[in-house]
Amino acid sequence: MKVTMETKKRMIEVQNVSFVYPHNNEEENVIALDGIDFHINKGEFVGIIGHNGSGKSTLAKLFNAIIFPTQGNVLVNGFNTKDQEHLWDIRQTAGMVFQNPDNQLVATIVEEDVAFGPENLGVPPQEIRERVNRALATVEMKAYAHQKPHQLSGGQKQRIAIAGILAMEPECIIFDEPTAMLDPSGRREVMGTIKKLNQDKHMTVIHITHFMNEIIDADRIIVLDKGKIVMEGTPEVIFKNVQGLKKIGLDVPQMTELAYELKNEGLDISDNILSIEEMVAALCQ
Ligand code: ADP
Ligand code: MG
Repeated sequence: MKVTMETKKRMIEVQNVSFVYPHNNEEENVIALDGIDFHINKGEFVGIIGHNGSGKSTLAKLFNAIIFPTQGNVLVNGFNTKDQEHLWDIRQTAGMVFQNPDNQLVATIVEEDVAFGPENLGVPPQEIRERVNRALATVEMKAYAHQKPHQLSGGQKQRIAIAGILAMEPECIIFDEPTAMLDPSGRREVMGTIKKLNQDKHMTVIHITHFMNEIIDADRIIVLDKGKIVMEGTPEVIFKNVQGLKKIGLDVPQMTELAYELKNEGLDISDNILSIEEMVAALCQ
């Protein structure tokens, strides 16, 4: 493929992708994704939302070459995920963090766990040590290097799982509902880490969530429903459509909801409100 400026900028390209989970009885095949087309640029923070069963996790697994499109192509850094030759490049380029931290931790000591990925990539021991230190510093867990993962809180475990991915030095991380099993403080810790990776380390982040507040400052939001993209745009554009989101079983950020209700009660208030700060500013006017 000719490498143009456009393709260099692209982290992930999804070209007319469908994915079907086959069933013994063909009539019961599940069409999880149905003709999806979009791309993600390097350095972007993209939120993906959608009701349960809308195809979010299936999409995430396609990015990471865990599964392959039934129709169409997924390109990661220009490599087609169907191209077996580049499978490890792809998995190393696009790391993945899942919902349950307990399922992602493999070793009995934190630093061994973080070292697991680079060890499998054949990174030399001295460099592994450096990568582990850097990754633990990034997620602010250096003080826990010699602890046992099972003694940590949910948010801490999830940050160790993130460090394990960072140690493989990916360009892009896909988070599939990483905060779903955490308490509010764990959720804050993990979101702080994710935002830092994007803003300070310039990593491409794809964040799948059902907590709308987590993506109010995303660059872009993609909304899935029944395996199709039904909306795509900035948080302002997406969350303005309160009724459209409700119709497909989704919420809006708390402050957007409040502004929506106040407006329905006759208050003259902007429908662009996403955060508490914006709400305070609007009410103080
Ligand atoms: P989400 O992550 O948005 O909840 P999923 O991608 O997990 O959605 O699922 C999309 C659709 O595919 C759903 O109808 C789900 O039941 C179905 N599905 C997911 N995984 C499998 C599987 N391993 N086998 C069969 N059907 C599946
Ligand atoms: Mg899912």
